[in-house]
Amino acid sequence: MKSAFISYKWYALLLCFLMLLLSLSWSRLIAPSVRSAESDIPLRLQTPFDNQMSEPLKPSAYMSMFPDAPTLPLEAAHIFDNSKVSPAESNSQILEPSASAGQTAVAQAETHLQPQQIPVLNYHSITIDPGNRAVITPAKFEEQMLYLSKNGYHTLTLQQFIDYMDGTISTLPKKPVLLTFDDGYADNYEHALPLLKKLNFHATLFVSPGTTEDGYFLNWDQIKEMHEAGWDIQPHGMTHPHLPKLSAKSQAYEISEAKRQIDEQLKINTTVFCYPFGEKNETTLKLLQEHGFRYAFTIEQGLTTRGQNRLLLKRLFVNGEESIEPWIVRLEHGAVKVKS
Ligand SMILES: [Zn+2]
Repeated sequence: MKSAFISYKWYALLLCFLMLLLSLSWSRLIAPSVRSAESDIPLRLQTPFDNQMSEPLKPSAYMSMFPDAPTLPLEAAHIFDNSKVSPAESNSQILEPSASAGQTAVAQAETHLQPQQIPVLNYHSITIDPGNRAVITPAKFEEQMLYLSKNGYHTLTLQQFIDYMDGTISTLPKKPVLLTFDDGYADNYEHALPLLKKLNFHATLFVSPGTTEDGYFLNWDQIKEMHEAGWDIQPHGMTHPHLPKLSAKSQAYEISEAKRQIDEQLKINTTVFCYPFGEKNETTLKLLQEHGFRYAFTIEQGLTTRGQNRLLLKRLFVNGEESIEPWIVRLEHGAVKVKS
């Protein structure tokens, strides 16, 4: 009688264990793919080595990361840390405003746009998604591109940008701008590629190769077509992870595998990285150098200069909810003036 009771208890325990196992495997493995089939939310991606699932990547993932309206004082946009400028840069014929040069430099900067201060515009998805700052409508995107075209802006190739940052060339075309697109949303193919082709504009695309078969993002055929049309393609991590949350081994995989796949697919040598979610730590910077990366873009707001750390370059987030006026001010000055 006693032994029958014990075995009943064991059966109950085994049943509980099996049910726990089933619910775990459902929530971690099966549920995300079902959700993906039911909606347009892309599959969750998993970095090997770390047992950590990434968040589903959608432009809304950035919602909390960017301010409503960048609130740097206008003056701050002109005062850059000049202490790290190398002698090669100080030989440059064009003046660069510096904190040490004081008010004179600031005054000069306000009357004459300094070519060293390159606006690097940061776009994501181009579609209609009201309330989402990281998404710009095709109409607004076209309005901005036409503004650049009509007002004499020159969209840089990534090589031009690198040559200038390296000091290989000392001047850039008048009114330079670097267009960057993060994540490789499939809508970039539909709404940016034809327009930029028509305007003869250059652009740089940061993609995560782990997303290329998802359907929500650009596939390799589209990426190759964009590359052939003159777009520069560079890595954005393999699975768009939160890099600082990963072990060094996983970070190394995210960085090196993304580079390896893009290099192999496009027969190029990528050297410019873009941090997913703008996140990095000391390990990330060390790994980038070890894997031959020479420049990396953050989501820190401001114009880009040679004086900035090469692996911590600033950009200008394009807030899709804004009208064109503040976008123009930021393009010209790196920040919108605070009303005081
Ligand atoms: Zn991203």
